[in-house]
Amino acid sequence: MSGVAGPRYLVAFGPTRVPHWFTDVLVLGGGLAGLRAALAVDPRLAVLVVNKDDLNESSSQWAQGGIAGVVDPEDRFDMHVADTLKAGGELCDPAVVEGVVREAPDRIAELIGWGTQFDLRDGGLDLGREGGHSHHRIVHALGDATGREVMRAVIERARATPNIEVWPETFTIDLVTHEGVCRGALVWHPGRGKTMIWARRTILATGGAGQIYRESTNPAGASGDGIALAWRAGAAVRDMEFMQFHPTVLYIAGGSRSLITEAVRGAGAHLVDRDGRRFMPDFDARGELAPRDVVSRAITEVMRRTAHSNVYLDLAHLDAAMVRHRFPGMAKLCRKFGLDLSTDRIPVRPGAHYMIGGVVVDDRGRTTVPHLFAAGEVTSSGLHGANRLASNSLLEGLVYGSRAGELAGCEAGEDAAAAFDEPFAVPQIGQPAAEEPTEGPPGEALDLADIRNSLRSLMWRQVGVERSGESLEEAAQTVAGWCRYVLPRQFTNPQGWQLQNLLEVGRLMIEAAAARRETRGVHVRSDFPATSDDWRQHLCWQRDRAEPWSVPVAAAAAEAVSTAGPAGGDCRPAGSGQK
Ligand SMILES: Cc1cc2nc3c(=O)[nH]c(=O)nc-3n(C[C@H](O)[C@H](O)[C@H](O)COP(=O)(O)OP(=O)(O)OC[C@H]3O[C@@H](n4cnc5c(N)ncnc54)[C@H](O)[C@@H]3O)c2cc1C
Repeated sequence: MSGVAGPRYLVAFGPTRVPHWFTDVLVLGGGLAGLRAALAVDPRLAVLVVNKDDLNESSSQWAQGGIAGVVDPEDRFDMHVADTLKAGGELCDPAVVEGVVREAPDRIAELIGWGTQFDLRDGGLDLGREGGHSHHRIVHALGDATGREVMRAVIERARATPNIEVWPETFTIDLVTHEGVCRGALVWHPGRGKTMIWARRTILATGGAGQIYRESTNPAGASGDGIALAWRAGAAVRDMEFMQFHPTVLYIAGGSRSLITEAVRGAGAHLVDRDGRRFMPDFDARGELAPRDVVSRAITEVMRRTAHSNVYLDLAHLDAAMVRHRFPGMAKLCRKFGLDLSTDRIPVRPGAHYMIGGVVVDDRGRTTVPHLFAAGEVTSSGLHGANRLASNSLLEGLVYGSRAGELAGCEAGEDAAAAFDEPFAVPQIGQPAAEEPTEGPPGEALDLADIRNSLRSLMWRQVGVERSGESLEEAAQTVAGWCRYVLPRQFTNPQGWQLQNLLEVGRLMIEAAAARRETRGVHVRSDFPATSDDWRQHLCWQRDRAEPWSVPVAAAAAEAVSTAGPAGGDCRPAGSGQK
């Protein structure tokens, strides 16, 4: 990897300088994937969930459209599989897709069993349809606030589970490794300072990295921490060039960049240009329901052609009462800006939405670092390929959270039963306090907000919906310059650590986007507009390997984990039907 390698750990610490905490399973991140993982752990084991915000702040909470799953008797697994593979630009792992799609009905039923109130119609689930889906198969709740309702039920379930303890407002600074094995994490709380948490097994579920772009639908916490800290710990990451842009993000000066769910287009909304002309049929026969990358590209092209900063969603031809009933949250938000969702044209443009690349996991959630698992948006599991199909990500979090929690718990339980307590023997590791900046006077204050804003603008301009070798080269040089004086510093609070994580992730994304000399899925190279069979492979990166390595599609996750990672036992809990 070219550029500047930062230190292994972001801050100084040592076994004699920080308090210690011991748990069987440590879950980092309290979104849907993390809580689902915690709930899957054997209830006889101690589980600690560490979350940097309160549990109500996560992408999972913000999810709107819903969860995809074959629950309608008229629908079929092979159709959901085919839709996922088609959207994924020939980079999905077909076995992974098949496994996740087949598990969806059980995971949805389980949520209902835990009290989630999905929207109903005529006594059955009211199924929505979104871009790229060939059938109505999206379960949703509270109209367009699915995440809020699902998380309410899952948080209540976690709180009622005696072996699960949650530490909110606690920031994970780094994973702790010893002799290549994950031993837990170093965390920080504003009142308690740093704590070393020693765990038999650790599950990373810290979500995405959308905040690396100026225009983003993601909450403030989506700063790529998990990818950066797994990378520093030596885990393999993959497909970092694939950031999905959501085509329709509300674009009103001074307003939040709220996503306008795909379901609005599913319900029949049109996309029109500044002159009110509907344009999607010119780009794709599926019109407004084409996959997100196609719609994002079309909008970018129309904005360029019309020299206008946005396009518009037009719902005026739909039944106004249906619009207000089906999309109450969106209607309320529009009203705040004097717009009526059912009659006015709503200004929208694309924004960074979903990080497709991430930490490599196999089909049971194991990363390449022994004793470290991962689930949810922080991972690259092989489900999404080069482009995620709408509403498949909450599903992925549920499926992989469940698998990772079950296996991590099973392995931790076996260690506990065998009185194998090495994970709790505190080794002499740490980072010396004497590390000084390589450039610039020690301790000189940096305007962190300025660097963060500059990075986000740069990523939007140079590494956005369309990239070129030239724009990526310029971005790489600028980010390398920032890394040189920001990464070696030791900060004392999350603002600094998040900036360091954003820079690490930005560097990886730029390098990966420059390496992939083709257009595929959400990665659009204006200088290589064609998709090439030669590039039908994943690009993997690891901190201690100078160059990326490529892995063919089907074998990708299993091969990456088995060649670079843990031996992997065969812990299968009794009665588990899962792979
Ligand atoms: C506006 C919006 C709408 C969406 N709509 C849908 C939809 O309808 N259907 C769908 O399938 N997907 C949707 N998505 C995507 C989906 O919500 C996410 O992919 C999914 O929720 C990710 O779940 P997760 O558990 O992996 O991460 P998250 O839900 O983001 O949870 C990660 C948690 O980790 C915590 N964390 C992060 N870093 C640290 C750290 N350093 N230390 C401690 N804690 C940390 C965060 O605070 C957060 O609570 C949407 C996303 C957005 C932003």
